[in-house]
Amino acid sequence: MDDLYTLLERAESNSDYRYILERLRWFDGFKCPNCAWDKYYPVSTRGLRQCKQCGLQVSPTSGTVLHKVRNLRSWVRAILFFLQKDEMSTVSIALLFNRSYATAWFMMHKIRFVLGQSLDHVFSTERREFPCSTMRAALFKASSGDVHMKSANMALAKPDSDYRAGFDFEDFVRLQTFLFSMLGVFQGVSRKYSQLYAYEFSLRRDRQLLDPLRLLGCFVRGSPLGRSQLKQYFAPYMIRL
Ligand SMILES: [Zn+2]
Repeated sequence: MDDLYTLLERAESNSDYRYILERLRWFDGFKCPNCAWDKYYPVSTRGLRQCKQCGLQVSPTSGTVLHKVRNLRSWVRAILFFLQKDEMSTVSIALLFNRSYATAWFMMHKIRFVLGQSLDHVFSTERREFPCSTMRAALFKASSGDVHMKSANMALAKPDSDYRAGFDFEDFVRLQTFLFSMLGVFQGVSRKYSQLYAYEFSLRRDRQLLDPLRLLGCFVRGSPLGRSQLKQYFAPYMIRL
């Protein structure tokens, strides 16, 4: 795998990144997603592999989270941002990659979601859970079309003084740092997606435990993640941080 780190450092084009994702996806050998056959013909264009048994042509990203993603360069670079110390606002990401705000917003939320779900266990011994009511200062309500809003409002109305009294100093600092970050970088975040921002915050805090190939590996597994799935997402009452 050592040479992959070098390739990643030098990668510039979409095809460079596609080659790296290809190596990550089949690091222990090819397996056809249709018939599970392990022999293939390489197809020279676009990094495709054709199954020798059923003839299916598979790209390094087909059927994964990055299914049909064309701009792999932006995606990989956005994923690797999660190894840096500080968050970037959606506006900054949109400007950086010359994408619309909506595209950048979905891209970053998909990345937060996938990394949060895939790597949550890495930090399981160190994570704490905070009621979202302790985060009110940095949360705003989701859009009015949100069917979960009623329960969320009830959750926000719960008294939290008892819980807050149980904080130790480390909890207090962790929560305050998260809130400062959400207010400073994002000018507040929606209650609906608060857990996704918390995933990002936790990843950055523990970024020394992660390496870039491990992060990218999370995106050549799983299944395609559509915008509608993200729209239906709603953070739980207890936020892992
Ligand atoms: Zn096959």
